[in-house]
Amino acid sequence: MNIILLGPPGAGKGTQARILVDGRGMIQLSTGDMLREARTSGTEMGNKVAAVMDRGDLVTDEIVIGLIEEKLEGDNGGGFIFDGFPRTLAQADALAELLVTHGKTLDAVVAMEVNDEALVARITARSTCGNCGEVYNDQMKPIPADGKCSNCGGTEFKRRADDNEESLKQRLMEYYKKTSPLIGYYHAKGQLRWVPGLGEIDEVAAGIAGALDG
Ligand code: AMP
Repeated sequence: MNIILLGPPGAGKGTQARILVDGRGMIQLSTGDMLREARTSGTEMGNKVAAVMDRGDLVTDEIVIGLIEEKLEGDNGGGFIFDGFPRTLAQADALAELLVTHGKTLDAVVAMEVNDEALVARITARSTCGNCGEVYNDQMKPIPADGKCSNCGGTEFKRRADDNEESLKQRLMEYYKKTSPLIGYYHAKGQLRWVPGLGEIDEVAAGIAGALDG
């Protein structure tokens, strides 16, 4: 099945996507990860979007739609998880068209319910493994005491350049202005399923499993 994980920055979309990848053989398509990779490898597009991302603004629809389009070719294993995409109504329309073109369907949109206070606390405490991208949180899921990533054994951890209070404010503003209308859009299509996003990681994962299988 192909699904969208929808929610504001810090809702835990990336963490939950990785659980679905491990448990169901799904393929995570995170436009945020793709854009960060483009920045790190210094591609022309990566350089172009760097400042936009650091400010907390959205990059153009054209760029992210292009990134997703490239990934839809071929087999999708246990299905795609769209993580951080779509973020605008234009992206949602483009995704619908792309799926039709590739003979695929969208089976569910999982909306993660959280509150802004929790998002600020989570994001300012977040770090990721520099090797595999496993997400840690100083409170909820600290880096293991031996300093090694529990997923790959990596020993370098980094914080995202846009995980600071000022960028987060702007990212939240972008979410409410441009992304939250997608809730109505997918509700109208009968595809929206709400899941509480505030509990422990395993509890949220169980909620998502219930929403997908129920
Ligand atoms: P994320 O890792 O999903 O929080 O994305 C980090 C940043 O990448 C966002 O703040 C945007 O600047 C950019 N970005 C990621 N996905 C999209 C998208 N679908 N549309 C526009 N910008 C995006």
